[in-house]
Amino acid sequence: MSLVLPSLLDPWRAADKHSVLAGCLPLASLPRLRNSLVETTGDVRFRLAFSRDEAQRAVLHCEVAATLRLRCQRCLEALDCEVDTTTLLALVAGIDEERYLPEPYDPLPVDNEPIRPGDLIEDELLLALPQIPMHEPVVCARQIPDADLAQRRCGGASPFAALAELKRRG
Ligand SMILES: [Zn+2]
Repeated sequence: MSLVLPSLLDPWRAADKHSVLAGCLPLASLPRLRNSLVETTGDVRFRLAFSRDEAQRAVLHCEVAATLRLRCQRCLEALDCEVDTTTLLALVAGIDEERYLPEPYDPLPVDNEPIRPGDLIEDELLLALPQIPMHEPVVCARQIPDADLAQRRCGGASPFAALAELKRRG
């Protein structure tokens, strides 16, 4: 088991050798993820296990876990989001292979170029991000009472009513 993440890796060879890469990577080293984070302190723990399945398919068992500090879109305060995902990927060389991939595999399209394991880990974290990060309503700093919401929806002067009034006067 390797504790050092190589910047480039031949995934087909890694599958043949049943390579396992595991360790930690600083969140600050992931440029695409960084934009979504309020703070980039902390690490992502990962385990990438390459192998061949019974059908001799090259597969990758990918586990990532991290605490990501995001911004709540309701109160704009920081929000800790625990990510802990396991994905089973199959290396695919072309669109045909991708189409006939059996469950439970997700396709990992690769050509003959080496892959960047750091990119893979970053992709998994990006996929796990909530689309609109928000605290649970009971803990969110911005409380919106139901009555208030209802009033905003139904009450107040409607712009159409104001317009009608103007027309009537004019
Ligand atoms: Zn909030």
